[in-house]
Amino acid sequence: MDYTQLIENQREFFRTHQTKDIRFRKEQLIKLQKLVSDNEKALYEAIHKDFGKSAFDTFTTEISIINKEIKYFLRNLSQLAKPERKWTNLANLPGSSRVYSEPLGTVLVIGAWNYPIQLSLLPAISAIAAGNTVILKPSEIAHHTMLVIQNLINQHFKPDFFHVCIGGVEETTEILKQKFDKIFFTGSTQVGKIIYEAAAKNLTPVVLELGGKSPAIVTADADLEVAARRIVWGKFINAGQTCVAPDFVLAEEKIKDHFLDYLRDYIKKFDYKAGSEHYAQIINDKNYTRLVQLIDRGKIYFGGNTDPGTRYIEPTVLDNVNWDDEVMREEIFGPILPVVSYKYFREAMNHLAQLEKPLAAYLFSNNPEEIKFFKDNYSFGGGCINDVMMHLSNDALPFGGVGNSGMGNYHGKYGFEAFSHKKAVLHRKNWGEPAIKYPPYTAKKLSL
Ligand code: NAD
Repeated sequence: MDYTQLIENQREFFRTHQTKDIRFRKEQLIKLQKLVSDNEKALYEAIHKDFGKSAFDTFTTEISIINKEIKYFLRNLSQLAKPERKWTNLANLPGSSRVYSEPLGTVLVIGAWNYPIQLSLLPAISAIAAGNTVILKPSEIAHHTMLVIQNLINQHFKPDFFHVCIGGVEETTEILKQKFDKIFFTGSTQVGKIIYEAAAKNLTPVVLELGGKSPAIVTADADLEVAARRIVWGKFINAGQTCVAPDFVLAEEKIKDHFLDYLRDYIKKFDYKAGSEHYAQIINDKNYTRLVQLIDRGKIYFGGNTDPGTRYIEPTVLDNVNWDDEVMREEIFGPILPVVSYKYFREAMNHLAQLEKPLAAYLFSNNPEEIKFFKDNYSFGGGCINDVMMHLSNDALPFGGVGNSGMGNYHGKYGFEAFSHKKAVLHRKNWGEPAIKYPPYTAKKLSL
């Protein structure tokens, strides 16, 4: 594929200023919404082939999120795109000040495989809402879903406005040689660094939505049953292949055993059977093998059954886990839940603070002091108190990482801002300004 030509065509289209028209942007979003809704069945089938998941699961974790984001922009875009009137300081009077949200130009979106529809289309929606042209590179790993996305977009959108390029490392490396006005990447921290380096060559700004080991801390002041129910749901949805899933639990020593029993009870209750459509399979053999090796069989509290044929890994809880165990080194990204115990809350929090900043963090506690300490002293992308993952379902909140878990954010107005330049314009009158401004700076002027 001739990427240079594709990008040049997009730039040419951008220069026609058609994407600046709010009506044009809304029309494109409505078209995308209809495309997704008319082809839900094809998307459900593709996800089923990639993950063995039910249509219900795909609706709640992918399609409904896209619908919600498009609805948000259809409702709020005119307001978001309006120039903002600002206060003007004395030295600039008479005059007026405004901030214009200007589209950046031609942007590249690179998606991850774990929620392959929304992680590709959600950033693209923000980019379109902000008035850009878009090149989308979905993950090649969720192969069937990638092909459906490619067909839908490329058959219904003009390539000089919105186009899907497919491929793996080789193709992405080629695409990254081109100059973009923004790169929005979702994926691993390791590849995030490659993207950042490629972007730096052209001074291209980036949003990096990366991963990390997101902790769930459960203290003696938590409602243990609620904590277990919510953690089990968040950890095992999509078989743990969720960037904001609780990676591990840090449980207060005196309630740990009691809490483990609740975890087991909810795993049983939620009925994550092999072959069930309500439980995803591991995406590929490489990840399956990696995950099986992380299960220390001597530490299994619950689960541990696996099947290479269906790439099934039973929800597995590991007990008596230490910080230096293999499973605590890298992001797990699968249905293995290590439980580490702690004695003193502050000590545990101080330990967490020494690790890389995670994409998410969750505290289960009803103790105001613990809640305050968690909020004020611990840095993470975003998170919840007494829940997991639900913060990202609120489009009033920004979604993104910090430090090793990424930079920049999106969702709702934050997505619009990620793909806009805030252009400041001071509009002066032709009269009325202090004489001191212009040289020569005579003694008389300086004494004024
Ligand atoms: P990945 O980094 O392997 O791949 C992501 C994208 O980068 C894919 O499109 C892939 O084709 C491309 N890519 C891979 N290697 C490349 C290279 N050498 N050069 C250029 N491009 C390359 O990530 P993944 O396995 O798809 O996703 C899993 C990771 O993503 C996890 O760490 C997870 O936490 C993270 N993630 C983060 C978010 C978030 O919103 N922050 C969401 C989902 C996943």
